[in-house]
Parts: sequence; C-alpha cells; structure tokens
Amino acid sequence: MQQNDQQQPTDILPLSIVVPCFNEETGIKELVRRCCGSALSAVGEGYELILVDDGSTDGTWAAITAEIAHRANVVAIKLSRNYGHQVALTAGLAAVRGRVVFVLDADLQDPPELLGAMLEAMRESRADVVYGQRRSRAGDSWFKTTTASLFYRLLEISTDILIPVDAGDFRLMSRRISDIVAQMPERDRFIRGMIASVGFKQIPFPYDRQQRYAGSTKYPLSKMIRFAADAFLGFSMALLRFSSLAAFGLLLALIGVAIYSIYAWASLEVVPGWTSIMISIIVVSLFQLIALSVIGEYVGRIYLSTKNRPLFIIDAIERGTTQ
Ligand code: UDP
Ligand code: MG
Repeated sequence: MQQNDQQQPTDILPLSIVVPCFNEETGIKELVRRCCGSALSAVGEGYELILVDDGSTDGTWAAITAEIAHRANVVAIKLSRNYGHQVALTAGLAAVRGRVVFVLDADLQDPPELLGAMLEAMRESRADVVYGQRRSRAGDSWFKTTTASLFYRLLEISTDILIPVDAGDFRLMSRRISDIVAQMPERDRFIRGMIASVGFKQIPFPYDRQQRYAGSTKYPLSKMIRFAADAFLGFSMALLRFSSLAAFGLLLALIGVAIYSIYAWASLEVVPGWTSIMISIIVVSLFQLIALSVIGEYVGRIYLSTKNRPLFIIDAIERGTTQ
C-alpha cells in the first residue's frame, strides 16, 4: 500500500493482469505465453501482466525477468520475503494501471483463455466483478475439494456478507473495486471476502478448474488452516458470540437444575450442602457466561473498527437539474 504512494500509477491501460507467484519457476514461461496470448486477443496491445514474486526461493525471479527481456507488457514486482498469497496479490493490485483487473494463479489452474468471455460477461451485465465459480476441480485432491466445500458453506452461514461459494480469487474486476481493496489496511486479508464486502454488481462465471500446469501446491495444510481462520475471524463474529449463545442455550437448563435442587432440598433426602453448592455453581457460571458475552461483543466491535473498512461506498450520486 505504501507502493501506491510512491508510484502513483496512472490509468492508461484497458487491462491489468495480476498473478502472485511463489516458487513457480517451471511454469512461468507457459503462464506468460498463455496470459499474453489471451490478453492480446481480448484487448490488443493495451495490457500489462504484473507478476508478483512472493519471496520465492527457487528460480522464479530469474524466470520472470527472462520474460521481461523480450516482452514489453510484463511488469515484475519482487517482494522482500514470502508474505503469503493474499498479501502478494494486494501488492499487485496496488500497482495496477488498467481500467479492468484480471486476477489468476500462476499454476494455470484458472485458464487465462476465459478472459475474453469474462470481459464480455462484465460488459453485458454491467457488472463490477465477474468471479470464477468452480463447477469442477480437476487438479485437487478429495481432501482439498471436500474441506474447501465445507469451508465455503460454513462461512456462508456464519457471515452477514454474501461471500460466493466455490469461488477463489480468479476473477475480473473494475478498477474502482481493486483500488478500494488495495487500500483497505487490514492485515489478515481474505480478499474474496473483502471484494464481496465492497458491493456493486458481482456476477458468477462458472468454469472448470484445471490441473496444476507444473510444480505442486503452495498451500500446505498449515496455510489452508491459517487462511480459513483469516476468513472466519475477519468476516464472522460467530466465535466471539459463542459465550452469548452458550449463555442463552444453557439459561433454561440451568434454571431448571436450580429449581430441582431447591425442590430436592425441601422434599427429598439430599447430602447436606449439595443444594447450596449447586445453586452457587449455577449462579456463578451464568454470571460468567453473561459477562463473557458482553466482553465478547465489545471486543468484536473494537476489532471491526481496527480493520478500518470503509463505512460505506457510494455507487453514484445524481442531482436534479434546474431549468
Ligand atoms: N502463492 C503465493 N504465496 C504463497 C503461496 C502461494 O504467492 O505463499 C501463489 C502461488 O504461486 C499460486 C497461488 O498463490 O499462484 C495459489 O497457490 P496454489 O496454486 O499453490 O494453491 P492451490 O491452488 O493449491 O490452492
Ligand atoms: Mg493452484
């Protein structure tokens, strides 16, 4: 985001393509060939292909710079270390000069050739975002497909924002959307959710996810868990509200137990002291649950404020004209 201040990119191009790359040396040449071919037939020469090297430890940077040597449309950004996919993507979005921004992965699981049809869909429906929605996931393991599907559905029921299911970061978006997202200062980024939160017209584009062209996944289980945590913690207060829900759910049960212990004390044989212990436990636990839910609610609000997301975004303002 600092880059934005330094570079002040000017809007001059019809299209920017942004690709985060982490240890993708074997696929770069093919990636560039297919992206450039697709962009050329969709918009002519007026495009840029921004490749962000996210602190790769293999020959990715060398492969990218080798492309720059003979392709004027390629822009290379090298990050100082590995920041992770979502931050690398943000670095690319902060540097775009195009009026429309196309985002895809470096491994060619999302076919660059769909660009033309997605541009057409954007134009036809006057949408600000055309997001790829996976009909099938050829290259992914059973484990990945199942956990991803579960993840999207759980997220869907636990947030207020409509984050589309089975959609990754593969998408076409207008410059206003990419600028807003690049400027959002939050650190643990879940970009597809952030884009959904911006609003405007966003439409799905069904496609079949391909096999990885080369190399292996750069999202091991640890990164997938981190990513899922960013999504849930960043877009849902469900976990913080757990104690409120528990208090609400247990309220009737605990009151029932309290009544029973008083009844048992009055008319059944109980060990002396049992009733008073039961009542104290119930009162204290209820008090703790309620106190935790109040604190949770405050913490949630503070957390959301620190994200500094725009309070609202205006699509258009129209004024009546005087005669
Ligand atoms: N990636 C990145 N930084 C990372 C991990 C991944 O820039 O720390 C890039 C990677 O090079 C690829 C994209 O993010 O372009 C998606 O990664 P991958 O294809 O490995 O994820 P999968 O498709 O297996 O979920
Ligand atoms: Mg992939």
